[in-house]
Amino acid sequence: MGVTKLCLLRDLKTFTIITAWSRFGQQIESILGMNRAELEQDYSEYQTRVQAATVNDYMWSLFNKMLLESSGDFHAQGMLYFSMYYFLEFYEERNGKQFKKLSLESYINKAREKHETSNYEMELVVSPDHECSHAMSMKGKRFPLGMDLVSELLSDKCERDFCRCIISGMSKRDANDTPIRKKGH
Ligand SMILES: [Zn+2]
Repeated sequence: MGVTKLCLLRDLKTFTIITAWSRFGQQIESILGMNRAELEQDYSEYQTRVQAATVNDYMWSLFNKMLLESSGDFHAQGMLYFSMYYFLEFYEERNGKQFKKLSLESYINKAREKHETSNYEMELVVSPDHECSHAMSMKGKRFPLGMDLVSELLSDKCERDFCRCIISGMSKRDANDTPIRKKGH
């Protein structure tokens, strides 16, 4: 790798408050209601409050705050856990796989919740990351609600570093493509 390319990569991985906004601003704004100026203000207040705090520490505290705000919303949690996974692996170069797992588990929880509250039988589908052939092989297939799709998607067969697969619940259909009602509904 040439020197220039290495420098570019290092610049890309440097995490600043500007990166925080460009990368996670959408989540920050929709969950915490902060715009960019308010984020910068909040960060400078954090710095005076917490000694020797880095912008990475601040970002991590924001993730936890957003998780708290999203309790009960499994889909939002799934997206947050994915961002945490990405943050750890890409910007901190640490193993964040447990957060990838939490992300996928949140999507399964969302599907189970849908099953509980719906009049229809649910099953699982995968919205695959198009650059991962392992996930693409599951495209269009339907899986039972109890199936361990999390381990399947986390397996070594996955070829992407930041595979963005989403699992969701869809109503089960019969041979005539009619959604199947739960018994007694
Ligand atoms: Zn994958």
